[in-house]
Amino acid sequence: MSKKNKSLFVDCSEAATCCTKAQYDEAGFFEKIKLMIHLAFCRTCRTFSSKNSKLTRKIEEANLKCCSEEKKREWRESINKLHREEHS
Ligand SMILES: [Zn+2]
Repeated sequence: MSKKNKSLFVDCSEAATCCTKAQYDEAGFFEKIKLMIHLAFCRTCRTFSSKNSKLTRKIEEANLKCCSEEKKREWRESINKLHREEHS
């Protein structure tokens, strides 16, 4: 759990975390709300979010046989990194 949890208005990096978690169905209700609020006013993250969905589908196709938790974590990290780079 993050210490920044009290605010509904998150920055782009936290939105990316929520977004990635949501892709894997790991986001809690509150995180989904925060993500939706962020997506409502942040166009960059909306673009990222839709790209992320496509990417996740590709990952799932590619990893059907060897889908370890470790591998998933690697992918998630690279997605988050990509997002941070787009914002900088
Ligand atoms: Zn954003």
